[in-house]
Amino acid sequence: MADPGFFDEGALVSVLTTEPLGRPLDYRAPEGGCLPGAFVEVPLGPRRVLGVVWGPGEGGFDPARIRTVTRVLDAAPLGEAMRSFLTRAADYTLTPLPAMLRLATRTPGLADPPGPRRIYRKGQAAPERLTAARARVLETLDDYGGAAFTLGELAALAGVSTGVVKGLVRLGAVIEEEAPRDLPYPRLDPDRPGKPLAADQAAAAAALRDGITGGRYGTTLLKGVTGSGKTEVYLEAVAECLRRGRQALVLLPEIALTAEFLERVRQRFGALPGEWHSGVTQTERRRLWRMAGEGGVSLVIGARSALFLPFRDLGLIVVDEEHDSAYKQEDGVLYNARDMAVLRAALCDAQVVLASATPSLESWVNAETGKYRRLDLTSRFGTAEMPALSAIDMRAERMEPNRWIGPTLAAAVAARIARGEQALLFLNRRGYAPVTICRACGHQIGCEHCDARMVEHRFLRRLVCHQCGETRPMPETCPACGAEGRLAPVGPGVERLAEEVAARFPEARVAVLSSDLFGSARALKEAIAGIAAGGADIVIGTQLVAKGHNFPLLTLVGVIDADLGLQGSDLRAAERTFQLMRQVSGRAGRGDRPGEAMLQTYQPEHPVIRAILSGEEEAFWRAEAAERKAAGMPPFGRLAGIVLSSPRAETAFDFGAELARRDGPLRQIGAQVFGPAPAPIARIRGRHRVRLLVKAARGAPLQAAIGEWIGQIRPPNNLRLTIDIDPQSFY
Ligand code: ADP
Ligand code: ZN
Repeated sequence: MADPGFFDEGALVSVLTTEPLGRPLDYRAPEGGCLPGAFVEVPLGPRRVLGVVWGPGEGGFDPARIRTVTRVLDAAPLGEAMRSFLTRAADYTLTPLPAMLRLATRTPGLADPPGPRRIYRKGQAAPERLTAARARVLETLDDYGGAAFTLGELAALAGVSTGVVKGLVRLGAVIEEEAPRDLPYPRLDPDRPGKPLAADQAAAAAALRDGITGGRYGTTLLKGVTGSGKTEVYLEAVAECLRRGRQALVLLPEIALTAEFLERVRQRFGALPGEWHSGVTQTERRRLWRMAGEGGVSLVIGARSALFLPFRDLGLIVVDEEHDSAYKQEDGVLYNARDMAVLRAALCDAQVVLASATPSLESWVNAETGKYRRLDLTSRFGTAEMPALSAIDMRAERMEPNRWIGPTLAAAVAARIARGEQALLFLNRRGYAPVTICRACGHQIGCEHCDARMVEHRFLRRLVCHQCGETRPMPETCPACGAEGRLAPVGPGVERLAEEVAARFPEARVAVLSSDLFGSARALKEAIAGIAAGGADIVIGTQLVAKGHNFPLLTLVGVIDADLGLQGSDLRAAERTFQLMRQVSGRAGRGDRPGEAMLQTYQPEHPVIRAILSGEEEAFWRAEAAERKAAGMPPFGRLAGIVLSSPRAETAFDFGAELARRDGPLRQIGAQVFGPAPAPIARIRGRHRVRLLVKAARGAPLQAAIGEWIGQIRPPNNLRLTIDIDPQSFY
């Protein structure tokens, strides 16, 4: 009898590949056998493809035609928990399993031996007189007894420039050599002292530590205003996880945030963690992927896709700013990393910490009903106070044409500048003007491929479609009537606001923070650091600034148009506006000076605006929850969005209508289908879009029913069908 945990040579195994075949195929185990979960290369037709040994073979094929696994790759096998995570995530999101496996193997050269790479370790020579910097490098190498590092790592650990390390190489005190394989990451030291915690912080940290010690699954909502020390607290949970020898993952919504965060980790644990996001080099991605599987990295900081790294023993997942819509992947595999983190943790006995100042309604309700534990940090750390909030009633402001900063806000900004403090003007609109209109014929310039207006970007001197990215030079004449010099911008974007600021405050130094104005994450990071150091008097920003950056000199936040998010019929419009306004106003007064936030609004009596001003968050969530409950909307009911797109509108509509007619499988679980209806953005990249919405009760087996429903008819060629379980957006 073969060991059930091992497949002997010739045994039938089922291999899941990343090819779109739908299901695993049978192969024979290669010479030397293989482990379940092993990464392998298998023949498929004339090609060789990557796969994972998913389990014993199914049998039932002609034994003569079953081919043999080509080779077993030199990578840690995918653990049982990870395999069931991928299976469950595929079932939940109605994604084919191979596409799910692709998320977990998006690593260049996974099958190849590592490329040449230089590493650095202690040499024999002991130079006599050492500069302080050189001595620190040698001490660091002694501290890590025998370990090797990359150049950047060693320099960072010792706190010196890379030139210092190179100097020691010339002296023979440090050896530089080619690495035969990927290096493990430097060990983090959980026992270095953290900051002394305030009472509520200490209590929360202790509760999180207990969760880790228990070694079981559990989810905690860690709620606290910006600056209350949530990061400080969950780093204590990370420390406990490291002490237990398990791996920890911290998910962040923005790459721009990682630099600040990495530095905090270095200060707390003495070395840098692994980093995973689109800005990381291929070599480093490969190394991290492999080390996650081998256990050679103990802490990873990453974007949502880091959740699919093959961790050997994951004990903690932190989802910071858990309400952030960046956690929802909106193309390819549609998943919400926050929800998938909970699933993954449940399958590998890990703890989840969801941190936010303004939790999603889903998490708030889960905490109310006891599904999640909830910990609150109620005050800002130290002397920093929450900003005073007020509304400016725009109906009473005397506005000049093409001006968006009212006299009240302008006076407040002037007062801050006079005191040497910073003001932030928030407008969640990129570009110069959202609409360009021809004054001769009334034509509004739209995108040729999308049902969207082109947005003028004056810095680029181009029109840009924010849907498909199409750009073209700003025309001189109207594309519809040919009139010359009659095109005019309508409404403000951040660039136009910058113009107004320059005119009103000619002496002020102005910085514009908008994602499209920075070529790289590094340029953005530098701009943010410059502002934090006092390099600007007025900051103009989009949503980008709402997220956890620290600007100690900032004492005033002016929201140009607080009503912007309240329009539209989006289910989450109120929740989003509430979160965004709270986050933005949380930017003010993080140093030792009190902050103030002013919201320009035409509807100060709107319930959302009132809730923001009153600061009675719990009342806001209770009211919002009651409304959703009455309507059977998430999280009290379930939704799935179906988008059909095709170059021909008719094709999409006809197919949608056919689906709606055949709703038997949905009715069987008491679900309703709405539509087909044209999507709010009815055309993107030349494809016409039609939506259906399925609504079911909370406990209903939605995925199974949808699978059966969709499976009834074959979509015509040219029709693309996407299923979005728990949709976040409805465009
Ligand atoms: P949050 O994650 O809730 O926004 P942070 O953990 O980033 O809050 O804390 C805000 C600021 O206060 C940071 O600069 C942090 O270092 C500091 N801070 C928080 N708690 C403490 C503490 N107990 N001792 C010293 N500084 C602290
Ligand atoms: Zn477009």
